[in-house]
Amino acid sequence: MKILVINCGSSSLKYQLINMENEECLALGLVERIGIEGSILTQKASGEKYIIEESMKDHTDAIRLVLGALVDPKHGVIKELSEIDAVGHRIVHGGEKYASSVVVNDEVMKNLKECSKLAPLHNPANIIGINACKALMPNTPMVTVFDTAFHQTMPEVAYVYPLPYELYTNNGVRKYGFHGTSHKFVSEKAAEMMGKDIKDLKLITCHLGNGASISAIKNGKSIETSMGFTPLEGIAMGTRCGSIDPAIIVYIMQELNLTIDEVNDLMNKKSGVLGISGVSSDFRDIEKAAWEDGNHRAQLALDIFSYKVKKFIGSYAAVMGGVDAIIFTAGLGENSPETREDVCNGLEFLGAVLDKSKNKVRGKAVELNTVDSKTKIFVIPTNEELVIARDTQALIK
Ligand code: AMP
Repeated sequence: MKILVINCGSSSLKYQLINMENEECLALGLVERIGIEGSILTQKASGEKYIIEESMKDHTDAIRLVLGALVDPKHGVIKELSEIDAVGHRIVHGGEKYASSVVVNDEVMKNLKECSKLAPLHNPANIIGINACKALMPNTPMVTVFDTAFHQTMPEVAYVYPLPYELYTNNGVRKYGFHGTSHKFVSEKAAEMMGKDIKDLKLITCHLGNGASISAIKNGKSIETSMGFTPLEGIAMGTRCGSIDPAIIVYIMQELNLTIDEVNDLMNKKSGVLGISGVSSDFRDIEKAAWEDGNHRAQLALDIFSYKVKKFIGSYAAVMGGVDAIIFTAGLGENSPETREDVCNGLEFLGAVLDKSKNKVRGKAVELNTVDSKTKIFVIPTNEELVIARDTQALIK
């Protein structure tokens, strides 16, 4: 069985074609600048790169080119589109309606539109992606896999905000959490590496990328996560401020005469490690500025980032009454031994002792703790596309 996984953004689209017999990625690609000048598709398959630079006025054009690239006689990986058994779509927000993936039908499409209010930047693009695929592959089953679904197991005490309760019941203002497919994937992989049943484990998963979130996973279920009503809450991120005193917003709007859009932009695009360092949102640039140029603000940005991650780990251990393993994943978590060392430094009281000689690794699933460490520490590369493909396969079988 071959599954196409689609992750649609507002002007970009990522895809993977996965052979489910061996879970091998046959082709992966990125389409950028959809609907704007300079549209480009880059596909990688069998170690070869295939680039198409062609105008794409919308997502239907983009998906038509993706399907064309997959069946291209020279650069493609399949002969006919009928070889694609199903399409799995990544959807950012499923609200409270979806605690698991579902097969797309009219009711699902209606609900997705309703959830757009909660994720105005993401869900509309996801919906356009589904419609474009339906138009070009009308007989192929489609499945939606939600970023929020895995966290629907959180208890009320974790997801209700201390605001007037009616804001929850009337307006859906509650913690939803994101990166669910990633937290699910790495927690299950950690249990497998420990040779234990996930139902017996207390795990803390740290998805540290440009967007970053931490989850407490008890007995295989997400019981707490750092992102909230939107992906802005939690730790400081590449450009997002994470949790701050909410009164700051009112204060700076008054002091600097900012509009709602301007303050939203400031919190989402100009803050985080970019805002602190003034250097970049990319941790590689910040690490270079801190370590090679001795830039104080760059070092401070790195320190604040690790400090926030550590604070969440401590609080999640408290919430679960202990922790059996801490897992690092995503761009920074997988590739920055220094960040992992900084975060783990001082966690010995939780029984977590990092073996620095094992920690040099990048991009591989490895146990990083010392032999006598009571709590395990892992780096596990995430694979959100594979979770989407597995869910899709399970639902259409
Ligand atoms: P993601 O959002 O998961 O793709 O992660 C992107 C982030 O990972 C970027 O901010 C990069 O700075 C960071 N990253 C990727 N590779 C490295 C590396 N080798 N060292 C430090 N940070 C990295």
